[in-house]
Amino acid sequence: MLRRLGTFLVALAVALVVTAGATPAPARSAPAAAPAQQAATTVQRTVVIGQSVRGRSIRAYYRGDPRATRVLLVLGQMHGDESAGRSTVGWVWQHVRPRAGTGLWVIPSINPDGAARHRRTNARGVDLNRNWPTSGWRRTAKGSRYYGGPRPGSEPETKALMRFLAGARPNYVASIHQPLHGVGRSGPGIAWERRLARNLALPLRSFGVGNPTGTVSPTMTGWYNQRYRGIATTIEYGARPSTRFRTVVAGRGIARAAGIY
Ligand SMILES: [Zn+2]
Repeated sequence: MLRRLGTFLVALAVALVVTAGATPAPARSAPAAAPAQQAATTVQRTVVIGQSVRGRSIRAYYRGDPRATRVLLVLGQMHGDESAGRSTVGWVWQHVRPRAGTGLWVIPSINPDGAARHRRTNARGVDLNRNWPTSGWRRTAKGSRYYGGPRPGSEPETKALMRFLAGARPNYVASIHQPLHGVGRSGPGIAWERRLARNLALPLRSFGVGNPTGTVSPTMTGWYNQRYRGIATTIEYGARPSTRFRTVVAGRGIARAAGIY
């Protein structure tokens, strides 16, 4: 993880477009007498991880230790008609300075086309949280609210996030949705999910996606949790969370649950 994140950042910086915020923040100045190794280094990066169907850029932002051993990703939006998580990402990015040895990624939205139209699906009518290549992917009717796409992993937004997650491998992924009011249970991540539930005052719940038992749900969290060691968790706010909830309460609650703040 140590080397991986550093290498990944460099690779992205070379391979992709690095935009505003590319200049690393100066190392925090330590007292003159402090040993050099105590001076924490913080980097800040903006990376374009892919393009939507309509060609909108999808951006990820990193702040923290380039050799972080504990990394949190907050994904603000996957469904275009669920926008509250973007406020959380905004608050987190504005306020959270990850503690030494930790790092923070935020992605405001993986579905900018849906967001532009306040529509759940992407521009091809695909539910991006049913498009992930797992054993539970099923062919579903086009036009359905839960249309999983023509093939598993068919959509550019899904592919962009798959590539990003494969490189960044965050320890914790908070994927924010609405309006089911709860923190999803994934099994291995129960301690983190309990912290989330407590900090956000939401119940722990199982969010089934209607697949046969024994298969992995074709959701981002299903895919990530099966494949990688980190824990991806769905957080469902209510339909109309207050401004205070979707900014400071949720932002601080998620960052603290992950132990980066
Ligand atoms: Zn959703």
